[in-house]
Order: sequence, then structure tokens, then C-alpha cells
Amino acid sequence: MVVVMASEADEADVQAVVTLVETAGGEAFVSRGVNRTIVGLVGDVEQFGALNLRGMRGVNDVVRISVPYKLVSRENHPHRSVVRVGGVPIGPDTMTLIAGPCAVESPEQTLQAAQMAQAAGATLLRGGAFKPRTSPYAFQGLGEKGLRILAEVREETGMPIVTEVVDANDVDLVASHADMLQVGTRNMQNFALLQAVGGAGRPVMLKRGFNATIEEWLMAAEYIAQRGNMDIVLCERGIRTFETATRNTLDISAVPVAQRLSHLPVIVDPSHSGGQRELVLPLTRAAIAIGADGVIIDVHPHPEAALCDGPQALVDGDLRELARTVRDLPPVVGRALTQA
Ligand code: PEP
Ligand code: MN
Repeated sequence: MVVVMASEADEADVQAVVTLVETAGGEAFVSRGVNRTIVGLVGDVEQFGALNLRGMRGVNDVVRISVPYKLVSRENHPHRSVVRVGGVPIGPDTMTLIAGPCAVESPEQTLQAAQMAQAAGATLLRGGAFKPRTSPYAFQGLGEKGLRILAEVREETGMPIVTEVVDANDVDLVASHADMLQVGTRNMQNFALLQAVGGAGRPVMLKRGFNATIEEWLMAAEYIAQRGNMDIVLCERGIRTFETATRNTLDISAVPVAQRLSHLPVIVDPSHSGGQRELVLPLTRAAIAIGADGVIIDVHPHPEAALCDGPQALVDGDLRELARTVRDLPPVVGRALTQA
């Protein structure tokens, strides 16, 4: 059950709802959006029905939500949300290009990759400082030093930073440098991490678990929303199937399905799904054509020497076509490339 506060409701009105629900033995999670505040109720729905919440001051509506995710559901939030990352919008009218190296390796490599990304039309810079690697022997990232490099490159280029956090204990550190926190596919159901990023005061990009259903993905987003953070962007990055010709199978239909079920923006990672440079541009075209709100793409100045995911990184020669694609294709589906 969700209590929708009126736009003119004040803090005391919200608190009165919370107190009443808690007195009745329930839990109330407050989510403050740009236009209105909603309160998600957990507990005995029949008992809440007897509280006459609808009659309280500042309450606009009380809605029973039929899906297990409530705050991120579109049932009570018909308009699709726009999430702003350092001022850059990700949402229904635009197509936002996020690009950069898979991993931050050095100041030079990160700056070069950022400049390549920017020249192709990217307005947000990606780059991993904490890398969740399948092999414990693989490069694990530069950690805090990598975050400082990203912050320097942001100074230089003006691009807000998207970077992954893999441990709940690092959330404050990463949030002190980053403009958006990324939760990777391997951590989609790391509930302690989800709750920590929910309280970090930064937008979150939540990648779909490679073995997760869309419903599980949305419930993971609900963990973040429950902590009061509604600035969540969902990212489809491929799922594990029987197919071995690609690294993962890009579940392209997840984009319109998630957009129908949730008001949150949905973007696509064509680099990590295909795992091969040759697939990145075709999958990018598919993502834009189906209505993704953005794409996140790996680029590297010298992929042959990359410490992580070199085979899928776009190089200089690919970027002209990427630039053309992200400029020309979005208008065909009623969008415009997000400008800096
Ligand atoms: C990444 O984007 O750097 C990454 C590790 O992606 P994923 O979690 O989708 O594998
Ligand atoms: Mn990678």
C-alpha cells in the first residue's frame, strides 16, 4: 500500500502519516520526489485500511499496489521519471550516451578515453575504480586512487562520473567522488549494498543481474527506493543463456517491459552484453531503436593493452560511426541526444 501525499503537504503531514502507521505496528518508508512525496507501507494491509489514512491532512490518495515492488512501480506513477546526474538528464525525451574505459588504469588513459567519449557525444563518463572481477587474479582496479583520477578528469572535461561500488563499506568513499554510483550485475542482490547506496544521496545505476528476472531486478531497485532514493536508473547488460557465441545475451525486450512496469529510466550496456567490439554498434542501434533512455559504452585508447575488457572496447576508428548513430537515430524514435 502506498500513501500519495499532495504536492502542498508539509513535513508535519508526512510525519503524522508515518507515526500513525508505526503506532498501528507497520513500517513506513518515505520517498521524496521532485513533485511529490510518497510513503510506502509495510505490514498488515487490512489494518491500514482501518486507519482512514485518506482522510488525513496532506494526503492525496491511498493506493493498493498489486506488484511486489511499490515505489518503483508505474502503477502509481504513470509518468516516466527523469534522473539527473550532475545536471545531465536520463529519461524519456532524451538518449544519453555514457562512455569511458571499463577500468581506470592511469590518469593519461582515463583522460584520453574521456576525450574520445566526449567527441562521440557522451555527456557522462564511466570508469571503474573498484572492479568486481570473476577471477581473483585479474586486475581489481586502482581503488581510491582511481576515484581521484576520475575526479581530476571530471575537472578537465566537465563530465560527471559514473563509477561502481562493490562493497557497502566503500559507499561513502565512492559517493564523495562520484556523481552516480553503479551497482554491477554480480551485486544486484547484495541487499546490504543496495540499502547503503539507497542512503548515499547520489543517483544509482542498477545493472540487471545476469541471472535475474525482470521482477527480481525491480525488487532490487525497490530496496534502494525504500531508503529514500528514487534516483535510480536500470541498466540491461545481458543475461546468461545457453548461447556461447556472445558473452551474454542482450535481453532487448527487457527495455520496453521494464519501462512498462516501472517509471525508472532504462538504459542498455551493449559492451558488457555482447563482449565483442563488432557487436557494440549493432547492439547500440537496437537499444536506441527500441527506446532505451541511454547506452553505456566502453572505449579505450589502446584496447590491446587494456587491463580489463579490451576486446569489447571501441577504438578511435569506431567513434565516428558511434557519434553518427547517437546523433541520427534518436530523432527517429522521438528523442534527442542529451547535450552537455
Ligand atoms: C562494468 O560496467 O564495468 C561492469 C563490470 O559491468 P557488469 O556489472 O554489467 O558486468
Ligand atoms: Mn568491464
